[in-house]
Amino acid sequence: MKIIIVGGGIGGLTLALSLHKEGHDVKVFESVKEIKPLGVGINLLPHCVRVLTNLGLQEKIAQNAIETSDLKYFNKYGQEFWSEPRGRFAGYKWPQFSLHRGNIQMLLFDEVMAQIGKETIQQNHHLSHFEQNENEVIAYFIDKDSGEKIHEEKADMLIGADGINSVVRQQLYPHEGKPVYSENVLYRGTTVMKPFLNGKSMAMIGSMKQKMVVYPIQPIDSDGSCLINWGANVKEGKSTLTARDWNRQADQKRLINLYIDWTFDWLDVPAMIAGSEAVYEFPMSDRNPLEKWSFGRVTLLGDAAHPMYPIGSNGASQAILDVDCLTECMKNNKDVLEILTQYDKERVPAAAKVVMQNRAKGPDEILDMMADLFPSGFTADEIPHKKLANVMDNYKKVAGFDIQTLNQKN
Ligand SMILES: Cc1cc2nc3c(=O)[nH]c(=O)nc-3n(C[C@H](O)[C@H](O)[C@H](O)COP(=O)(O)OP(=O)(O)OC[C@H]3O[C@@H](n4cnc5c(N)ncnc54)[C@H](O)[C@@H]3O)c2cc1C
Repeated sequence: MKIIIVGGGIGGLTLALSLHKEGHDVKVFESVKEIKPLGVGINLLPHCVRVLTNLGLQEKIAQNAIETSDLKYFNKYGQEFWSEPRGRFAGYKWPQFSLHRGNIQMLLFDEVMAQIGKETIQQNHHLSHFEQNENEVIAYFIDKDSGEKIHEEKADMLIGADGINSVVRQQLYPHEGKPVYSENVLYRGTTVMKPFLNGKSMAMIGSMKQKMVVYPIQPIDSDGSCLINWGANVKEGKSTLTARDWNRQADQKRLINLYIDWTFDWLDVPAMIAGSEAVYEFPMSDRNPLEKWSFGRVTLLGDAAHPMYPIGSNGASQAILDVDCLTECMKNNKDVLEILTQYDKERVPAAAKVVMQNRAKGPDEILDMMADLFPSGFTADEIPHKKLANVMDNYKKVAGFDIQTLNQKN
């Protein structure tokens, strides 16, 4: 089958590899002039690493990533109240990786070029709109800067993997309106510094009013330092909604002041923020889940289909689960409408649950539970382990990575 993939991000490129492996004729059209290693840290959870492993990529990813060993939760005084092993350390058949988004983006880009061919990815091709009829879909591309029409392409199916500001989604849902803003801003950065905890841990600190997520994303170098990713979630209020642009820079000094008291014996948060070359801001916004992603020969995938708060390490992982599902639906079926009906049936409700769980704080609900119960700190015997475990177990089920279900797969 001939397939147009709009968007050469993590979802689009993984989809190209996966569908090519099944013998389909794929082409990726990407808006930017040159795909670059942008972003900061990202996590790949075991359920999506399973898919990447089946594409033969696990070892290559591991070379430039951290295999996350555990996830720990702390209050704003740096007191630990929850710790759980992750990935293979927790008994999953597949690891959890923490890595630079740019690394996985470029790895996928190189793999598509090598496995499928240089012509597969057309950069500087911004989708302006599409048309479809009973027999085909036609995509129209422009140069985004000049607005000049540059190309049109016909195919059997078009998949909009064009991210949070999806043009495909906009054409399918012209009256959808603005994203839903959480009044939180996520400030993100990376800092070269000495490792913290065991060097492979991920830490969540504070409450949903003011949170910090910290994890290493590159192996320790020869002088004992490593690249640490951090994300500061701050409840800023209504007035702060900016365009959803992953590359917008923010005021570093203001952020350092907000976290000035967060110096713990295991981590110096203000020093970590100060050590970052740049700080990026991203308004925590999502969209209400859709009832349907597929219309005729056109569908959505990844952030275009289900933009969600970057909570619970699920943004890239859910896009890759979409890839897996769509590939499975295409096995032994040539009927585009049947394939996309099946894809919608499986993925629309599943992804909607994750969007809603993340809106309801996802696993990070336990931060607020502890902050509300013990605003001035706690003693070890006061920690309500069972209550916290319920929240954590439930999220894994909703997001599709509870260990019993996942480990039954190949
Ligand atoms: C530059 C950038 C930096 C990011 N940084 C982070 C980060 O630090 N941490 C994090 O958790 N997530 C980050 N993300 C988001 C993360 O990649 C996604 O949440 C997740 O991987 C799902 O991937 P996706 O393929 O659906 O979307 P994305 O990875 O966002 O990819 C969408 C792609 O579609 C392209 N595109 C958009 N419109 C058009 C169009 N009309 N025609 C053709 N192509 C189009 C975009 O240029 C982009 O390459 C970033 C995304 C981008 C684009």
